[in-house]
Amino acid sequence: MFKTITVPKRTIMTPGPVEVNPKVLQVMSNSILGQYDPVFLDIMNEVKELIKQPFGTKNEQAFAIDGSSRSGIEAAMIAILEKGDKVLIPAFGRFAYLLAEIAGRCGAEVVLLEKSWESPFAQQDIIEKVKEVKPKLVAMVHGETANGQIQDLDEIGAYCQANDVLLLVDMVATFAGVELKVDEWGVDIAIAGSQKCLSVPAGMSLVTFNKRVEKLIKERYQLELGLSKDIRNERFIQSNYLDLSQLMNYWNEERINHHTEATTLVYGVHEGLRLLLEEGLENVHRRHLLNNQAIVAGVKAMGLEIFGAPDTKMPTVTPVIIPDGVDALAVPRLLLEQFGVEIAGSFGELNGKIWRIGNMGYSSRHENVLAVLGALESVLIYYGADIQVGKAVKAALDVYL
Ligand SMILES: *Cc1c(COP(=O)(O)O)cnc(C)c1O
Repeated sequence: MFKTITVPKRTIMTPGPVEVNPKVLQVMSNSILGQYDPVFLDIMNEVKELIKQPFGTKNEQAFAIDGSSRSGIEAAMIAILEKGDKVLIPAFGRFAYLLAEIAGRCGAEVVLLEKSWESPFAQQDIIEKVKEVKPKLVAMVHGETANGQIQDLDEIGAYCQANDVLLLVDMVATFAGVELKVDEWGVDIAIAGSQKCLSVPAGMSLVTFNKRVEKLIKERYQLELGLSKDIRNERFIQSNYLDLSQLMNYWNEERINHHTEATTLVYGVHEGLRLLLEEGLENVHRRHLLNNQAIVAGVKAMGLEIFGAPDTKMPTVTPVIIPDGVDALAVPRLLLEQFGVEIAGSFGELNGKIWRIGNMGYSSRHENVLAVLGALESVLIYYGADIQVGKAVKAALDVYL
């Protein structure tokens, strides 16, 4: 016989998934509601409103999509891009290449603008490339979780708005951790996820888009055959499950039948967003900044170096350069097995070169910061790394006290 699973308690300090606020788990344990139950429809309507504030938008369209963050990215891309459309993707880290991968699968002509992963782009460099390439869409990442760098967007957005170019931004790692201004920056469509700073289990993506995108997807609208044989469209969106136009009409008052909604996750997203607003977005951002400051102070006090340009470092991720002679995999393994503390490695060219300490959502708490610093120091001592001993936790406490 199989036994009911036993799940150990962990201190999760990765850049996602992160610890979930117990209040969210509690709300998620409510009974299932039918997806057209009026009580559930009210919850959906509130979720639509709640999503807008952390994005900094007054867009009419804001809703959640079943699937992790990349489902929202894929839905956005496949709704906008048609075969042969040009898309410009400025890349300063791993997740830009995910955008390129998805755009390529949409049949778009992908133009990559690449640079070293140590810092983001000067906005003017991207604008120059937009002038040269004349793409339909610029797709980029706000916070690059793989290397911990954040990109300014306002000038790029202003240029795109003035020149009939659409701007799609992956805000997965910054939503609810950093102040976002989708409207002010001129972002046409933005995507976030549930399991990062929102601190809800993985499985939902959040998306908001403006009238320019709404107009475009309405032009491509095709209703499912099973509902009507009349609404056919030559330019139909290639995906059914991730069809933003049908999802929009399901989340809107029309309530046109589509997938079976993951009601439990919607409860979780509602509570996650509600808790953010209860704490106050400014306080939430300030908490992430303070804990970031403590993590950075602690890491530096050990004599370790932080990867990338300090001025453009994301407060939600700290990339730590792995010291010489230390086994990149052994350290996180011992941290998890003996301390119950989880940190992450990285991807691509940074794999084996940096560890990443996350500082996101419900995991962004003093006790977690102190736990990860104390445990990391102990593990590095155990493996004989050449570090400054006995200073990390003190440095973090000096930030707090
Ligand atoms: C985590 C992350 C993703 C992918 O998210 P999933 O939820 O795993 O699909 C995409 N972009 C960024 C910047 C991320 O941090």
